Amino acid sequence: MNNFTKQKTSRLGVMGGTFDPIHYGHLVAAEMARSEFKLSKVLFIPTGIPPHKDRLDISAGEFRLEMVERAIEDNPVFACSAMEIERQGPSYTVETLRLLSKIWPEHELYFITGTDALREIFSWREAEEILTMIQFIGAARPGFDAKDFLQYVRQEHPEIVDKIHYLEVPALAISSTDIRRRVKNKQPIRYLLPEAVRLYIEQKNLYR
Ligand code: NAP
Repeated sequence: MNNFTKQKTSRLGVMGGTFDPIHYGHLVAAEMARSEFKLSKVLFIPTGIPPHKDRLDISAGEFRLEMVERAIEDNPVFACSAMEIERQGPSYTVETLRLLSKIWPEHELYFITGTDALREIFSWREAEEILTMIQFIGAARPGFDAKDFLQYVRQEHPEIVDKIHYLEVPALAISSTDIRRRVKNKQPIRYLLPEAVRLYIEQKNLYR
């Protein structure tokens, strides 16, 4: 029996994202997913080098990691891993998932990310392999309409339709892009993200 067919006794949430910076939308999404899908823990994994992005101004991994650590420190069922930031080369999700299933063979993995990212899943490296390994939770911003995407999956990839879940997260009206823009324009960001993260952004002079 390999790691993916072994009896799984509990569920691990894997929160993948750039988190530049992490904000309350991400935290609420993780908490809603934990409760809705009965996840025993949620592991935040900030992306090291995003394989798909041409944005050259992504903050250094050590800053994004530190912000995630500060944001989750008061929640005992949230944890953070530096595995993608420490790994050389682009952060392919398939490699992360392989490693996680070796570390926690008894856990069923639930990968949580934004619906925009989820829409691109079929272009990810070894997408078919990924889809045999995990369940997907797409955290949707308010107003997101999943119908066309689900219709596409039903037609083209009916074998995985049961593995894709949507979670509407009103708090995802908050976005990292907007926070970066606000900092640049000297507008307030208090209450959009944990205070410890806001202070860290100030201290390190990020997004100026
Ligand atoms: P992104 O393009 O920065 O984000 C897409 C959208 O989803 C944004 O609106 C973003 O909002 C939101 N989002 C991102 N992560 C989220 C999360 N965990 N929960 C709720 N909303 C989230 O996507 P990304 O962050 O670079 O990538 C997402 C994940 O997919 C990462 O783990 C990445 O490594 C993986 N990925 C893998 C491959 C591959 O293996 N080839 C390719 C693409 C993506 P905010 O801007 O507010 O966060």
